[in-house]
Order: sequence, then structure tokens, then C-alpha cells
Amino acid sequence: MTDDRDHGFAEELARCGALPTRIIETHVDDGTGHCVRCPAGPQADRLTHPCNLRAVATEALVIQARLQMRKNAEGIGWLERGEGPERPERGRA
Ligand SMILES: [Zn+2]
Repeated sequence: MTDDRDHGFAEELARCGALPTRIIETHVDDGTGHCVRCPAGPQADRLTHPCNLRAVATEALVIQARLQMRKNAEGIGWLERGEGPERPERGRA
């Protein structure tokens, strides 16, 4: 089975703040194994849960977590370099 999901869309979604979380909260199982939000078509039932949008939102959350970890690592980069924390220059007394 090939993964034909659009990873570019997940990357974009990851830059939309709380949107991926909101999608995951709203695209839930209706109790019959289908998404409560995603119609499959005019004459059809609803999409099987988890729907594609929820799957992409989940991927976006993983990307957000990865970006946050990278940001945190940059934040303590001075520690790894054995330097003091960066502070604005102050005039000496
Ligand atoms: Zn859905």
C-alpha cells in the first residue's frame, strides 16, 4: 500500500496554530465507525473514521511537536556550547 497523502498539506497545517488540534477534536467517531463531520457523498454515508482530514491533522501535530523540540533545542544551544545565556549588553558601573 502506498502512502498517497499530501505531506505538503500537513506541513502547511502545522503552521496554523491550534487548527490541527481543533480538527482532531471535531472529526471523531460517530459511534458507527464513521466521521461525524465528513460526508462521503450526496447518496452515501459518512467517511470511515479516522477520515483523511483527521489523519493529516494528526501528522501536522507531529510536525508541530518536532518544530517545537527543534526550537527548544536552539533555546539551550548556549548551554551545549559552554557559554552563558545570551543577555542584552549592559553598561558597566
Ligand atoms: Zn472527518
